Amino acid sequence: MIPKSHPRYESLILRERLVKGMRDGIVALEGLIAHGRGETFDYLIGERTMPYALEAERTAVATLLLASRPIISVNGNTAVLVASEISKLSEILSAPIEVNLFHRTEERLQKIVEHLKKHGAKKVLGMKGDARIPGLEHERGKCDREGIFSSDVVLVPLEDGDRCEALIKMGKEVIAIDLNPFSRTARTATITIVDNVVRAIPNMVKMAEEMKELKKEELKEIKNNYDNKEILKRCIEEIINHLQGEMEK
Ligand code: ATP
Ligand code: MG
Repeated sequence: MIPKSHPRYESLILRERLVKGMRDGIVALEGLIAHGRGETFDYLIGERTMPYALEAERTAVATLLLASRPIISVNGNTAVLVASEISKLSEILSAPIEVNLFHRTEERLQKIVEHLKKHGAKKVLGMKGDARIPGLEHERGKCDREGIFSSDVVLVPLEDGDRCEALIKMGKEVIAIDLNPFSRTARTATITIVDNVVRAIPNMVKMAEEMKELKKEELKEIKNNYDNKEILKRCIEEIINHLQGEMEK
């Protein structure tokens, strides 16, 4: 048991959940490494949601609300970190969830689907794997025809750069959640949310509840005012400022 008084309590709890998820066959071993990289960048941004991330989250929600076939792609890490919240987001946005894995095995897929359903997800796709994302080799390119393949907007927390690029090449709008503003994913996505999924998804649930009442025109305006390059630039500037502040402490 981690004592609540531990100064890194929150972070240690997340690690514990990832490790349990790995033991339960939901998280891939590589997922633990990815989480570690995420932790590093979270330190650099001060482990909080910054204004540029809020702006990206708001634009992401507007884009998902405007989409005709939105979809939420979920992997093992996302499933153990935010299963209930992502299920809620899926319901509010009427965007189905598809389990889509970088390290795909049928067993892990099945386990993640069950885990999400246990946490309130109604419709979970991903088991069929009856279509392919062009440009990716066999297992990595598998997806569902009625899901990611025919979607127009994909929300992909923690995606790999290659796959993000392949989705963009298919003409989709890709919303990535990635703590690393330098990753290929962050650079390639249509909208990059540089925030931890454990903060970003609950933020987006709240926003979606409010924003679903907005008119299409208002949602379009939010989208039109967004510039992803500018967001990443502000993020890097904030990291520099934050580090400067740390240096002067
Ligand atoms: P890319 O393929 O995009 O160039 P990469 O190869 O460096 O990136 P991957 O292992 O493909 O990294 O993807 C994992 C990404 O997920 C990392 O950039 C990491 O920062 C991010 N990440 C890990 N945990 C979280 C989290 N909890 N919230 C948000 N992002 C996270
Ligand atoms: Mg990668």
